[in-house]
Amino acid sequence: MRVLRVALDVPVAKLFDYLIDDATPAASGDRVVVPFGARQRVGVVVEVADASAIAVSRLKPVVRVLEDAPRLSASWFEQMRFLSSYYQRPLGETVAGALPVRLRSLKPLPKRRKTAAGATADAAHQFAASHDPNPAQAHAIEQIGAALGSFRSFLLHGITGSGKTEVYLRLIAQVLSKGMQALVLVPEIGLTPQLEARFRRAFPDTRIAVLHSALEETARTHAWLDAARGEAPIILGTRLAVLTPLPRLGIVVVDEEHDASFKQQEGLRYSGRDAAVLRAKLAGCPVVLGTATPSLETWFNCRAGRYESLTLPERAAPGARLPTVRTVDLRIESAEHGFAKPVLDAIRARLARGEQSLVFINRRGYAPVLSCEACGWAAGCARCSAHMVVHATAERGRAPGAGSLHCHHCGARQKVPRECPTCGNVDLRPLGRGTQRVEETLAAQFPQARILRIDRDSTRKRTELARTLEGIGRGEGDILVGTQLLAKGHDFPKLTLVCVLNADSALLSTDYRSAERLFATLAQVGGRCGRREQPGEVLVQTRYPGHPLFQALIRHDYAGFAESQLAERESAGFPPFVHEAALRAEATRLEAAMAFLRAAARLLEVPDAIQVYDPVPHVITRRAGVERAQLLLQSASRPALQDFLRLWSAALPASTSSGVRWHLDVDPIEFD
Ligand code: ADP
Ligand code: ZN
Ligand code: ZN
Repeated sequence: MRVLRVALDVPVAKLFDYLIDDATPAASGDRVVVPFGARQRVGVVVEVADASAIAVSRLKPVVRVLEDAPRLSASWFEQMRFLSSYYQRPLGETVAGALPVRLRSLKPLPKRRKTAAGATADAAHQFAASHDPNPAQAHAIEQIGAALGSFRSFLLHGITGSGKTEVYLRLIAQVLSKGMQALVLVPEIGLTPQLEARFRRAFPDTRIAVLHSALEETARTHAWLDAARGEAPIILGTRLAVLTPLPRLGIVVVDEEHDASFKQQEGLRYSGRDAAVLRAKLAGCPVVLGTATPSLETWFNCRAGRYESLTLPERAAPGARLPTVRTVDLRIESAEHGFAKPVLDAIRARLARGEQSLVFINRRGYAPVLSCEACGWAAGCARCSAHMVVHATAERGRAPGAGSLHCHHCGARQKVPRECPTCGNVDLRPLGRGTQRVEETLAAQFPQARILRIDRDSTRKRTELARTLEGIGRGEGDILVGTQLLAKGHDFPKLTLVCVLNADSALLSTDYRSAERLFATLAQVGGRCGRREQPGEVLVQTRYPGHPLFQALIRHDYAGFAESQLAERESAGFPPFVHEAALRAEATRLEAAMAFLRAAARLLEVPDAIQVYDPVPHVITRRAGVERAQLLLQSASRPALQDFLRLWSAALPASTSSGVRWHLDVDPIEFD
């Protein structure tokens, strides 16, 4: 008899021992069915041992060893162990969270797919190149290409449209020709079918495993198995793809590495970007972090010599230049329905020339607030400390009164009330504007124009979004109105104007990361225009035209902006100069959450190297009926912080015992 030490999906930091007879082969990385309580569960063998700390008579035998998927490798376990320890989450939950649901269920795996005709794992790759690299691209390809076979971290700092994707494709072709796999990570929202199509065009005969959270379970399982069996040479996915076992990993690419969606906000709260660097290190291959606006963490790592920086300073397409960026001073120009006259004039000029314009406003719905001017009442969500957002009904032109109120935090919906619940006033007004209202205004201003609104409400399905974006790429739509969804990665040849409506709200935010994010967003969305011969123009409406952020944007001076931000962060003692972790508590009463955090802060003696701040309620304190508070820890020493977090999380009471649920967020990036 041997003892299998098994990781199970339970919230305790321990492994579970089971017996297995000597005749049954089993090794670390095997999935096994084991009895657990009254049920059976699928777990993963972490270790095979001769003995257990528990009396053999009390151990139960394994039900069976599953052989329908490849055994999980030692290097994959090393990744899981690291993530489990770094992000303070039990190994069992970490491992379970990394596997598609089907691999941890008792249901048999879906039948193996037939290889699609032509799409193979190992036939000669006919890489279909579309351009000869320009000198900057060639230099990047040469430098990174020379690093294949060993771990090195590169920042590919290329302005929008500089041909970063072409660099990835060429490097991937090299990796594939060596019989190895390429892992490409893209932001949640950025996994546009456009990019997928580009990869398929470049590698027409190669199987590409696409992995993201919106896939239905069978498709995700197939893609995962294709990757894990080594049958898909290219793995293209969102952050979760970094957790896939890959037997022959030869390169890792993280596109738009600055994007906040690489950070997982529940369960294992990992940074997909940092996990990608770790993954490359474990696999002994290079990692390429590509972006026009590096995260300050990555910029700092370059400065410290940990990452090597390669630059693509110019647009790649013949004749294409970066757009001209201008501010429109809202203190001088009066804005009608949210649009200053120069902005409307610029749109009119594009319409006359048959070019496309994009109006960017980072807020969906009709208006962010519904209020009563008689008594000051505003529609709030019953379950969240937030306003309800007014949404118009689908048909354009109908009064907003015919619409509904949505909570963007918990999803609650209700009808627009007929009258103010406080004073009975029937004249309730939507205040401010979102994409729907902007669309309405533009329709009234430009009745002949074809207006396309792109946000999460207008395009619920990925395929629908894909079709719309393709259409825009072919020139459909005169004016595009949209949120972040329109900002990322797209290539719209006829787009020559980008108008930004409400940038100022981010300037006034208390979150020290908001400037970094605003700069990145504006550079991204601005980067959608002028990608061919016709020059592009970006107009930013603001009451603060002299703000250094806008001045840097006008000069296309990312480096200057980054350095000034880093100087501010250093003097204020913020990341990346210190490391942070947040302990967050949730309870039905705020006082219970606060009391838990106060007690937690006193639980252990805190080493000098670590600073523990007072607990504070979240900005949006109540969400979906739950009160939330957090306390922040900072340290200049990552190991000191890690050591303390390990002791602390072991000492904190189990989430369920006091009615307070808690979690740790290491390297947190959201504080709302
Ligand atoms: P990025 O990923 O940096 O935004 P892309 O790779 O999408 O840039 O390239 C932008 C545009 O330039 C695309 O239309 C692409 O086909 C074109 N392009 C890329 N490299 C070259 C090149 N070497 N010569 C000509 N056009 C190029
Ligand atoms: Zn009222
Ligand atoms: Zn709500």
